[in-house]
Amino acid sequence: MITITDVHKQFNTLHVLKGISLSVEKGKVVVIIGPSGSGKTTLLRCLNALEIPTSGSVQIGDVKLDFSKKVERTSIPKLRKQTGMVFQNYNLFPHMTAVENVMEGPVTVKKVDKEKARAKAAALLSKVGLGDKLDHYPAQLSGGQQQRVGIARALAMDPQVMLFDEPTSALDPELVGEVLKVMKELAQEGMTMIVVTHEMGFAREVADEVIFMDQGFIVERDTPSNLFAQPREERTRQFLQHLK
Ligand code: ATP
Repeated sequence: MITITDVHKQFNTLHVLKGISLSVEKGKVVVIIGPSGSGKTTLLRCLNALEIPTSGSVQIGDVKLDFSKKVERTSIPKLRKQTGMVFQNYNLFPHMTAVENVMEGPVTVKKVDKEKARAKAAALLSKVGLGDKLDHYPAQLSGGQQQRVGIARALAMDPQVMLFDEPTSALDPELVGEVLKVMKELAQEGMTMIVVTHEMGFAREVADEVIFMDQGFIVERDTPSNLFAQPREERTRQFLQHLK
């Protein structure tokens, strides 16, 4: 489903990703952990070409982009369409209601008929537990509710893969659970997911694999039970100790 091969990303002289290779099978949930600045967000953004890798290739489904060669402009939206992204700060349109936020992508990008898009958006909002909040504006919703709108909005584009960038980091602790619950349900339905998070409970319970990144490298990848209980690398051990 996803194959990343030797991806590098430099911002001028700052070498943020130093040769990341990774493959994720359909239906799997991969959690990425690592210290601040290790390149987790940059890796997610390279996956959907919000950042253009300096070199290396990214394949999602049948769309493959080799950034070591000249990439056709038209192929970038194709890669982006394969993914749905959920951001830390929700990024909802403040002047649109929940249902309008969710139908916006299908209507403007996919040219879906408005009524059809609205019906689908309403169904997705029900799925994330917000069937009674369709006409609320973001400012009238809690952080947890806004983030669930964010998830519904990403799903509305029928992505092959969902990318989550610290989806619960901005939330009050008591609202984290409702967002993780929705993510867990998605995983159980077989969605392929890559999740950057500090929620180790989620990683333990839901991830098929946990990846520990440091300084632009994948240091170690393993099942959650192995990685948390008996990390092979000293660097991973140090990082995990700080979490306790
Ligand atoms: P955090 O857990 O704090 O979000 P992270 O592991 O997600 O960290 P990144 O956000 O990927 O790390 O950032 C990695 C490095 O790249 C940081 O030093 C950051 O300042 C730098 N960086 C990220 N985006 C840019 C950019 N657009 N221009 C320049 N430097 C950037």
